[in-house]
Amino acid sequence: MYKIAILGSTGSIGTLTLEVISHLGRDFKVTALSTNSNIELLQEQINRFSPEVVCICNESDFRTTRIRGVRLLTGRDGLAEIASGESDIIVNALVGAVGIYPTITALESKKRVCLANKETLVSFGDIVMDTARKYGGEILPIDSEHSAIHQCIQTDKRKVAEIILTASGGPFRQSVINESITPEDTLAHPVWKMGKKVTVDSATLMNKGLEVIEAIKLFKIAPENISVLIHPQSIIHSMIRFADNSILAQLSLPDMRLPIQYALTYPERFPSLVEPLNLAKVKTLEFEPPDKEKFPCLSLAYRAISEGGTMPAVLSASDEVCVNSFLIKKITLPDISKIITQVMDRHNVMNIPTFKEIEEADRWARGETLKVIESLNQ
Ligand code: MG
Repeated sequence: MYKIAILGSTGSIGTLTLEVISHLGRDFKVTALSTNSNIELLQEQINRFSPEVVCICNESDFRTTRIRGVRLLTGRDGLAEIASGESDIIVNALVGAVGIYPTITALESKKRVCLANKETLVSFGDIVMDTARKYGGEILPIDSEHSAIHQCIQTDKRKVAEIILTASGGPFRQSVINESITPEDTLAHPVWKMGKKVTVDSATLMNKGLEVIEAIKLFKIAPENISVLIHPQSIIHSMIRFADNSILAQLSLPDMRLPIQYALTYPERFPSLVEPLNLAKVKTLEFEPPDKEKFPCLSLAYRAISEGGTMPAVLSASDEVCVNSFLIKKITLPDISKIITQVMDRHNVMNIPTFKEIEEADRWARGETLKVIESLNQ
């Protein structure tokens, strides 16, 4: 019996995780759920999955909500209590920087963390990986590319010469990016249906940039040995190349339920909800190099990793603020990379930062990003 806690259960990855758990059957039991403020969906999930404990992160929603038959927690302490509690597996599908705290607590409690919260690996990657090693916790990525790499690496433990991260290219692969692009245009992703933050990041290719950093941290590979390849069909989810130029790839229909199930059940494999891939029907798999001038966010991620220390945290935090500002139409899509560049230019990198120093850099970057946005609007 596997006991599973889902942090962020009302979001896109959270709801898909519950579908996968229902499908896997009674050996997989939901022990805890959390939401920020989607109480209606949380109530439905409680009725269906009968967890022992739930966390409503937003404290004002927590105060006004009455739910019977389940222990109610709130805030960051509530998430920490779940992360160190009864479950064997923590699915971290929280959005943004708040996800770091339960990840660390769960790893310290020697648990498996199925991590969909890539921002925390970007900002705190070295600390997260050191914590996992020190305490014997385990990280399984819920990101289709990193799941693909994990699957390829399991089949052949020899030294990887290159990781080739594939990218769909987002909604603007074949069109011009300019000031007139709306949040609605941006949220219409051609292949994947995902949360808003990651969908906007996919349109700017910042998502791929963050994933390059995520891969560097997860798989301990040098930045120069990771490349990005645009593959619009999203059938190949990533590849690894060995010294002899042999390449292994992982293929499937684009469906997050596969990487979610893999992360939950690894090293076992079970039948899944994902349809078999019919390559005769797909017919064509296309590839092209990314257009770095059109998508400057990709180069910003490589810059952040080469400057190192606190810079990836600054990149990630500044991007989060920019995406939120874009969604409420305070800035345009092309502004995002310009604003992040200015914030990175102003940052004094701290090398080998402590946890507190990364938190501080994150806070600084958010404040600085807001200042740049204000100056644009004057
Ligand atoms: Mg991904």
